[in-house]
Parts: sequence; C-alpha cells; structure tokens
Amino acid sequence: MTCELQTQPGAAGAARQGSVWDYVSPSRLSLWAKCPLAWRLRYLDGVESPTTPSLFVGKLCHAGLEVFYRHRQRGVTLAAEDVRERLDTIWNEAIDQEGQPFANTEEAAKAKGLTQNLVRAYLDQLPADEPGPLAVEAVFEAPLVDPATGEDLGIPLLGIVDVVFDAAEGPVVVDFKTAASAAEPAEVVHEIQLGSYAYLLRRSLGRTESEVQIRSLVKTRQPRVLVHRYAARTEAHFARLFALLREYVDALDARRFNYRPGWTCASCDFRETHCRQWSG
Ligand code: SF4
Repeated sequence: MTCELQTQPGAAGAARQGSVWDYVSPSRLSLWAKCPLAWRLRYLDGVESPTTPSLFVGKLCHAGLEVFYRHRQRGVTLAAEDVRERLDTIWNEAIDQEGQPFANTEEAAKAKGLTQNLVRAYLDQLPADEPGPLAVEAVFEAPLVDPATGEDLGIPLLGIVDVVFDAAEGPVVVDFKTAASAAEPAEVVHEIQLGSYAYLLRRSLGRTESEVQIRSLVKTRQPRVLVHRYAARTEAHFARLFALLREYVDALDARRFNYRPGWTCASCDFRETHCRQWSG
C-alpha cells in the first residue's frame, strides 16, 4: 500500500502546493463541484482571493486548537490562559505575514476578542477525560483506488485532518469549523470532506473510522460549541465520492470548466470581475 502520513509539527503548513494534476484535495473537489469556472480561476489561473475577516478568524481558531492538541499529543495540557497567550503571538505573526484583513483597529480588536472567546468556549466544554490525540493537523496522502472496482484514477488524494483520536471501536476523525449560526448542517453539505478523510484514514492506517465529527465553533454573541457526529462511511458513500472524482478527473483531461450560477455566487470573489468577462 502506498500512502503517506506526516504528523510532525508544521507538516500541514508544509503540505506541498502541487499543480492540479499532482493531487486532488477535498477543498479542490468541493470548489469544482460548486463551480468549475471558479475552480479554474483559483487553481489553474492562480487568481488570488483576499483573506476575508471571517476566514482569518476561522484560520486563527484552528491555529489555537492546533497548539492545544499538539501539546496534548505530548501529554501536556495547556491552561486556557496559556493558549490565549500563544494565540496572541500567532495572531500578530499572521497579520505580519498576510497583511491586515480588517478595515480598522476597532474591527481587528473585535475579531481578535471573538477568536479568543471561541477557542476559550471550546476548551471550557472539553471533557476532562478526553484522550490525547493520535494525530494533529496530519497530512494524509493516498492513491485514489475505487474500493468497489479497484480502478486506479491515476492521481492521489491529499487531505489535512485536524485531529484523529484513537478509540477501541475505531479512530475518530475530527474537523473543526467556525460557523455563523447554530443550525444543524445537512450531512450532504460535508459529504466530500467526510468521505475523503475516511478514505485517507483507512488507506493510511489500515483501520476503519468509528465516526467522523465536525466540531463547530459558533460565532454567536455567547460563543457555542456544537459537535456533529457522522457514522463510519459506507460503500454507498465511497461509490458517490468516486463517481464525483471520476467526473472531476475527466473534466481536467477535457479542460472543460463551465460556470455554474447558483446560490454560491453571492459570496464568490470572481462574480463582478472574471466571471462577468467569461464568455463560455
Ligand atoms: S459568480 Fe457564480 S458562476 Fe461565476 S465564477 Fe463565481 S460561483 Fe461561478
């Protein structure tokens, strides 16, 4: 079995930025499924989108939780105040590296407070007996071989999994998200990500997940944490995932990237520029 699992600190940050023919990732596949034109603009043409304040907050929440769980992996439990201090440093470094995504200092201070409160809310609700993680920000890579037919799609799948916990009944895969509302997400919305992580885990560790979780940090006035649990992926899930992957690979080969107008256009960075200029 050819597979790769990097679990060292910084491994995720150093994940290779390969061309679209080097690997498929859940985010590439998801964007292509939403709109092939937006996918082409981002991944083939290299049109960059500015980091929005919301994305920045989400990224920094991930960074705070990564610090916490990397220590847990080594048997150290950081106090919430320690995580907050480290998050302060990471926040400043991110602003230095990426630039200021906020309109003014007041907005920046508000976003920083929100990030700290979200991470704090997460840490406060953790059960005292949560086990140390098996992997943190782990880069998994495996060839895409259809489990039902054995067909090799000729391109690997690469994904970064936030945290994996071990459990007697099978590993638990956890993905962190920040959300604007506490509404229960429809499972199908996350199906590409859930199926991809389960596939990578099985190929890399040779074990079947017991469940996949989305732990949602909700940006309400009083931050909340919701854990959405999804059962181990079934043959039907993988059949659907591979049907989509096959279509994706075919589209790459045919270089066919049509626009797909719909509800996602409302938040698309290309809507008023590149998309308007696209003529089919
Ligand atoms: S505005 Fe809509 S159709 Fe146009 S590129 Fe963006 S998502 Fe696609």
